[in-house]
Amino acid sequence: MTEGLDLATLMSAVLGNANGAITPPIVQSSLFSFDSYEAFEDRMAGRSNTAIYTRVQNPTVAAFEGLMADAEQGEAAVGFASGMAAISSTLLAFVKPGHRIACVEHVYPDSYRFMERILRPFGVEVDYFSAEQFENDPDLLQGVQLAYLESPSSILFKPLNLSKVTAHAKRHDVLTMIDNSWASPVFQKPLTQGVDIVLHSASKYISGHSDTVAGVVVASQKHIDQIRDLTLSLLGGKLAPFEAFLLTRGLRTLSVRMRQHEATANLFIDRLSALPQVRRVHSPGPNDVPGLTGRSGLLSIEFDDSIDIPTFSNALKHFRLGVSWGGFESLILPARVGLAQIGEENSMQRFGVSPNLVRLNLGLEEAEDLWADFTSALTTGAR
Ligand SMILES: *Cc1c(COP(=O)(O)O)cnc(C)c1O
Repeated sequence: MTEGLDLATLMSAVLGNANGAITPPIVQSSLFSFDSYEAFEDRMAGRSNTAIYTRVQNPTVAAFEGLMADAEQGEAAVGFASGMAAISSTLLAFVKPGHRIACVEHVYPDSYRFMERILRPFGVEVDYFSAEQFENDPDLLQGVQLAYLESPSSILFKPLNLSKVTAHAKRHDVLTMIDNSWASPVFQKPLTQGVDIVLHSASKYISGHSDTVAGVVVASQKHIDQIRDLTLSLLGGKLAPFEAFLLTRGLRTLSVRMRQHEATANLFIDRLSALPQVRRVHSPGPNDVPGLTGRSGLLSIEFDDSIDIPTFSNALKHFRLGVSWGGFESLILPARVGLAQIGEENSMQRFGVSPNLVRLNLGLEEAEDLWADFTSALTTGAR
C-alpha cells in the first residue's frame, strides 16, 4: 500500500514536524487562525491553501486524503462522514435537472434509493443496465451525462470490464464514477482503467475494524475541487479528524488484511464447490475482468431448497447476523433480510435475487474455524 508516498513525508507536508510523531496527531480544532490580516486575506482570496475551517479542510483529514489519493493513483481525494455522504455529494456536484444517469444494475441498495428517492424527483433520469449492456452496446451512453458503476455489483457481485465501459464513455463524453468498496485499491485501481471518479465506503475494508463510518472520493484535482467547493461545503457531510485518524491506521494494514480475506475466501470457494446443497457461489476473483487482481472476503452463496436459511443462520457461532462488512468479524446477511430494508414489494425480483441466497463477510478469524462453523450450521439447517 501507499508505495509512492510515505506517511512521514505526507504528515510533515500537512501537519508540520508534529514533534516527530509517527502517527498523525488528531487536530481537534474547528477553525484555524492567521498570523496577520494580510495572511488571512490571502487565504480567503484563494492565494494560499491552509486550513480555515474543519467543515472543508483539516490537517488530520488531509493526511488521510493524501494517502487515499496515492493508493488509488489519483491526484486528490476528499473525505466524507459516510460512504453515502460521499456518493450523494459526488452525484449532486455533477448532475443537474434534465441530466441522464446510466447506472449499473444491482448497486448498493441505498445508492439505488438515492437515485430513485432524491435524484429522480429533482428531474434527473436514471436508467439501469446490466454489465453486458454496458460492455457491449457502444451507443448505450449516447445522451447520458454520468455513468454510475460498481464492479463487482452488490449482492450478486457481477464484475464489469471497466476498460471497455470507459472507452464507450470517453467517446460519448460521459463522466464515470465507481464505487470501489468491495475490491479496495489493493485489488482494483479504476482510475488506471480510465474511470474519472472512485469512491469508497471507508466504513468497510479501509477502516477494517467495524468502528468507523466514513467515505472518501478520489479523482483529478479539478473534480475534487468541484466536490469540495460545492457539495462538501454546502451539504457539510465532512469527515471528522478522529475518524480520519482511524482510517489512516486502517490503511496501514489494508494490504495484509486483504490478502488474509482472500486466502479465506479461496479456501471457501474450493470447498463450496464440493457441497451438494450449494447451487451457486458469487465471488469474482483475479482476472475475471481485466484489472481485478484479487478476491475479497465478501461473497454470496445460493443454496438449494434443502437448507432452511433461518435455522442455518441461527446455528452459526463465528458468523454474526448483521449488516455491513470489511471488519475482523465474520458476518452473515440473508438476502431476504437485507432487501426487506428497501421496502419495495418486489425487491427480491428487482435485484434478481433468490430467497435461498446469503451474503457472507469472511473476516480475519482462523479460516478453518470459520469453515467448521459453516459446515456444522449446514447440518443443523438441513430441512
Ligand atoms: C456500505 C456501503 C456503502 C455505504 O457506505 P456507508 O459508509 O455505510 O454510508 C456504499 N457502497 C457499498 C458497496 C457499501 O457496501
